[in-house]
Amino acid sequence: MLDAPAFTAFPLDRAEALRRDADAVASLAARPDARVAALWRLKPLVGDQDGALTPAYFPRSRLDPASLQSKVVVEVFLGLDAAGAPVFAVALDPALEPPPDFAALVMGGESTPDVRFVELREAAATMHAGEASILATARALFAWHEAHGFCPKCGAPSVSTLGGWKRVCSVEGTEHFPRVDPVVIMLITRDEQALLGRGVTWPEGRFSCLAGFVEPGETAEDAARREAQEETGILLGEVGFLMSQPWPFPSQLMLGLHAQALSEAIIVDPHELAEARWASRAEVEAMLAGKHPSLRGPPPFAVAYHLLRWWVSRPSE
Ligand SMILES: [Zn+2]
Repeated sequence: MLDAPAFTAFPLDRAEALRRDADAVASLAARPDARVAALWRLKPLVGDQDGALTPAYFPRSRLDPASLQSKVVVEVFLGLDAAGAPVFAVALDPALEPPPDFAALVMGGESTPDVRFVELREAAATMHAGEASILATARALFAWHEAHGFCPKCGAPSVSTLGGWKRVCSVEGTEHFPRVDPVVIMLITRDEQALLGRGVTWPEGRFSCLAGFVEPGETAEDAARREAQEETGILLGEVGFLMSQPWPFPSQLMLGLHAQALSEAIIVDPHELAEARWASRAEVEAMLAGKHPSLRGPPPFAVAYHLLRWWVSRPSE
């Protein structure tokens, strides 16, 4: 069994059929067990629990006062939890300065010294995977809403509908859906070695798998072959799927692939990579454990970590 990378254990029933009915969504929002996660400038409101960060949900009813409603830019219905309770998320007006009283207000005046807005990337390192995936969904949706306030066809304002899962042009009625951008990330191996690359902006010693965006008209397999050749000159043979990970910065879906290299000589494209190298199983194992003298690998919440760990933990080819 593979351990899951961050953002991959979404625990809610998305209840897609309910989104289509605005009255049903309003009824869900009015339920006493409805709860809300808040994001401000795409940062979720979180608290501490036993040394880990956890979303600071609050009852949906706390948003009722007009004074708070006016601070909400967009609201999305994320789904129903295991007990059937509705879960929503709100994006707070980014123009607000960090509202120091907001947390206390929505938490019902309870003492909440540790409740704060943090970068999701930072929170994901310690947050329960399922909770992180709820916030990841909200973050990806809000980033899309933020960038799509106007119809991309005619420029008229667009309106959020379907519980926040669609925008409709206010003039022509054209429909616009949240985007997901596929990225291939490749575990490339050859003769008991794996290919590692260091991005041009990454610090010395920091390595990961090669990755790149899938282009229009391209299969994931073709994208993997093209990216590997462009970035390192390595030719790939067979390419297979291993696992995927939503990556809400802002809206990627990382497609984790395993590819066999057909060639070995590395020619780095300096626009794409600072360096690339082959590493043995022992080196990768030490790198993932944080025990390699010079190589530092991807963090455990990244899919690259799990691709590499899958490789070092399986029998030799
Ligand atoms: Zn339009």
